[in-house]
Amino acid sequence: MVQRTYDVLVIGEGISGLSAAHALAQAGLTTATLEAQLFGGLVLNVNELGPSADPARTVSGAEMASELMQANADLGVTSIQEAVTAIKNGGATAQVTTAAATYQARQVVLAAGAVDTPRLLLLSGIGPEDELARHGIPVVQVSPGVGRNLHDHLANGLLAAVDAETLYTAERVRHLLAWLVAGRGPLTSNVAEAAAFVRVGPDATAPDLELIFAPVLFEEEGTVPPSRDGVTVAAVLLQPRSAGEVRLSSADPLAPPEIDPRYLTDSDGHDARTLREGVRLARRVLAGNPLARHVTEELLPGADAVDDDALDAHLRARSQTLYHPVGTCCMGTDDDAVVTPDLRVRGVDGLRIVDASVIPALPRGHTNWPTVMVAERAAELMRAA
Ligand SMILES: Cc1cc2nc3c(=O)[nH]c(=O)nc-3n(C[C@H](O)[C@H](O)[C@H](O)COP(=O)(O)OP(=O)(O)OC[C@H]3O[C@@H](n4cnc5c(N)ncnc54)[C@H](O)[C@@H]3O)c2cc1C
Repeated sequence: MVQRTYDVLVIGEGISGLSAAHALAQAGLTTATLEAQLFGGLVLNVNELGPSADPARTVSGAEMASELMQANADLGVTSIQEAVTAIKNGGATAQVTTAAATYQARQVVLAAGAVDTPRLLLLSGIGPEDELARHGIPVVQVSPGVGRNLHDHLANGLLAAVDAETLYTAERVRHLLAWLVAGRGPLTSNVAEAAAFVRVGPDATAPDLELIFAPVLFEEEGTVPPSRDGVTVAAVLLQPRSAGEVRLSSADPLAPPEIDPRYLTDSDGHDARTLREGVRLARRVLAGNPLARHVTEELLPGADAVDDDALDAHLRARSQTLYHPVGTCCMGTDDDAVVTPDLRVRGVDGLRIVDASVIPALPRGHTNWPTVMVAERAAELMRAA
C-alpha cells in the first residue's frame, strides 16, 4: 500500500480544488490533489504542487502514476473517516484512504463538489443521525445539514422553428473553411449568444429570472443533434425556493448517490409561477422584430400551451438542470450549518470544505466564479491559520 504525506491534501480537481491547491502551493505548502477522473474510465489521478521541505517525502508525478497503476488504482477517494478519527483522537495528521493508497496531511480539503462532498462526509460518518443509521454507518460527528438544502438553477427552453440559417448547419464544410481560414462564421459561436437578467415577480427587487438565447434548437437537454433550423430562449429560475437533498443509496462507496432536487415543490408555488412568467416573456421576445420575421412555428411548449395549467404541465415535463447545485454542506452559524464561516467542518479539526456545496443559497448568476471565490478565500484562511 502506497503511503504519502503532505501539508495539505485536496480531494477533487474541479474548479474549487484546483483554485485552492494552486493558491496553497504558491504560498509554499506542499499540496497534493486527488481526482477521481470520471471521464474515460475511473482513474485516480494524483498531482503534487509546491516545494517540499523534504524531497524524500514526495515522489514525481510519473513515479506516483506508476505506483498507482501497479496497485490497480481505479477508484477515487472512498472515505475520509480515518482522517476524522485520527484528528479527533489527537493525532497530528489526517489520513485519507483510496483503493490503492493512504495519504496523510496536516489539513484535508474537500473539493469534490455539491454532490460528492456530502456523499463522502456521509460515508465517513459525518451527517444526519437518521441517514447514517439507515445505512448502518457508525456516527463520527452528527451534522444534520449534510446533503440537505440542495438548491439548483432550473431552466426551461422555449423552442421555435425559423426560416433562417442557424447553428443546425454549423458543421458544413464551408463553415469549417471559414473558421479555419478567417476565424469567422457559425463555428465561432459560443451557442448561448445572448443573456438577459430580468425581474418578473411582482415583489422582485433584483433579477429573479435569466433568459438565455441560443441560435439553435436545444433539444432533449442537448443530448441529441438539433432536428432542424430553430432557436431557443431558455428561462432560468435564479432564486428557487424549492430545496432538495443528496442521500446515500447504500453504504457501498461505489454506489451512486440519490439526488432528489425536488424542483417546483415550494409550498407557495413561487418557483412554478416565476418560470411560467419566464416562458411567457420568452414568447414576447420571439414575437418582437427582428426575430418575429423569422419564426415560423413555436415547437415547445407549443402555441396551445397558454393557461397556467398547460404551462405547469410543460414545466414539469420539460424543465432541466443548469448544473448549478449548491448548498449541500451549507456554510453558516446555525445548527444546520455544516461548515463555519471560515469553512471548517463543524466538530472536526483539520477538515475544510471549499467547493460549491458550502454556498448557502444560489447567486443570481452562474456558479463557477462564486465557487472560485470560495476556494481562493479558503486558501487565504488556511495560509493565515
Ligand atoms: C455541463 C455543465 C456546464 C456548466 N456551465 C457553467 C457555466 O457556463 N458557467 C458557470 O458559471 N458554471 C457552469 N457550470 C457549473 C460549474 O461547473 C460548477 O458550479 C463548478 O464546477 C463547481 O465547482 P466544484 O469545485 O464545487 O465542483 P466540480 O468542478 O464538479 O469539482 C469536483 C471534482 O471532484 C472530483 N471528485 C468527486 N468525487 C471524488 C472522489 N471521491 N475522489 C476524488 N475526486 C472526486 C470530481 O471528479 C470533480 O473533478 C456548469 C456545470 C456543468 C456540469
